[in-house]
Amino acid sequence: MNCRRCHHADDTHESTDSNESIIRRGICKIPDCTCKQFLDIFEEIDDEQL
Ligand SMILES: [Zn+2]
Ligand SMILES: [Zn+2]
Repeated sequence: MNCRRCHHADDTHESTDSNESIIRRGICKIPDCTCKQFLDIFEEIDDEQL
């Protein structure tokens, strides 16, 4: 699955712990990429992280 925002793969994004069962992924580790949060295809683009 690729990030909707930056189109890099999900495993290029750092995993972040969450209180929920959903695994959220954070900053993209690709050097040139400015993506700060993985968005999957089903996710609405929200403002920023809560
Ligand atoms: Zn990226
Ligand atoms: Zn991304």
